[in-house]
Amino acid sequence: MSAARALDERDAHLLPSPSLFAQVVGQRDAVSQLSAGARRPVHAYLLVGPPGLSQNELVRGFAASLLCPTGGCGSCEVCRRALAGTHPDLVEVTRTGASITVDDARSLVRLAQRRPLEGHRQVIVVPDLHLARLAAPVLLKTLEEPASSTIFVLLAESVPADLATIASRSIRIELRPVPAAELAAWLEALGVERDRAVQVAEAAGGSVDRARLLAEDEGFAARRELWRSVPTRLDGTGSSAATLASELLASCEDACEPLRSHHRAEIEALTTQAEAMGARSVPGRKQVEDRQHREERRWRMDELRAGLRVLAGAYRDRLAQAASSPDASSSHGQERVGALLGAISSVEQVVGELVRNPNETLMLEALMVRLSAVTL
Ligand SMILES: [Zn+2]
Repeated sequence: MSAARALDERDAHLLPSPSLFAQVVGQRDAVSQLSAGARRPVHAYLLVGPPGLSQNELVRGFAASLLCPTGGCGSCEVCRRALAGTHPDLVEVTRTGASITVDDARSLVRLAQRRPLEGHRQVIVVPDLHLARLAAPVLLKTLEEPASSTIFVLLAESVPADLATIASRSIRIELRPVPAAELAAWLEALGVERDRAVQVAEAAGGSVDRARLLAEDEGFAARRELWRSVPTRLDGTGSSAATLASELLASCEDACEPLRSHHRAEIEALTTQAEAMGARSVPGRKQVEDRQHREERRWRMDELRAGLRVLAGAYRDRLAQAASSPDASSSHGQERVGALLGAISSVEQVVGELVRNPNETLMLEALMVRLSAVTL
């Protein structure tokens, strides 16, 4: 405690090196809050936002600035290991089931009371805090009586009411979807061609992880084209509506393939690692697979949402044409504008319904039937 305090006071004027956060895309506010926080850290930080927003990179940069003997130089061995996620005083807890259980929380409490293994502090990262509702009272206790050398970094997609007290005991940092223009610029800097960078950034919905995967996804352009072709391919018959709905769903399914191959590689790497350690099976394999399954489900929904936005865009392009055409004020012209507005609002309504986990097949079929009524 006294060593930590002495260090805090000696280096209170220093900010961690910006290089610690070089891998973070966007999130300037979060980076400056964490950098400032590293000078005189409190016992808990809560990062709130959907996954895919450089959480890992933020946590590791922050941990380096907390563990480094000089407050985050960015070049010493402690910084390097923290950034690589291999420093023993940077501990990411994994839950044993679909939610954080009371038992998980109890082992977390024991961990929090442990002395750091190497340095003057330890950083404990708790992912998926929004899944900790049952464990909240146990967690709260350790947050209220923390060991002075332990700093928590809690990650949550949202803060449900039963976690409000935990949130109030932490410094809350909001993570925001990365604006499309910023994602596109980042992709271009990685060597992605300009037009594709812009289209990928639009389809990424603010997520860095999604942008990264879409950028190297060979099927991306073809899927986008399929969604854009919907208005011309609907011929007013029920069969064209049904065919399109099933093609669109199949394309959302195909879209998961790069993520799946990424997941297979992850399991292979874990298996190799386990074998090298002499283990017969991968420890925690079930949890990894459950997480991958959730990621795939989310990915399919993101794909569907992105596709629907492309479709709305295709109708918007037609609306712009119709509104500026010479017969825009004729009754036929006005009818066409009204029909296109109706089509756009039908698509947007479906985008809004996605949060309620609808039956995707029925939802898309119904939408295609409704859009069939718009004659172009
Ligand atoms: Zn350092």
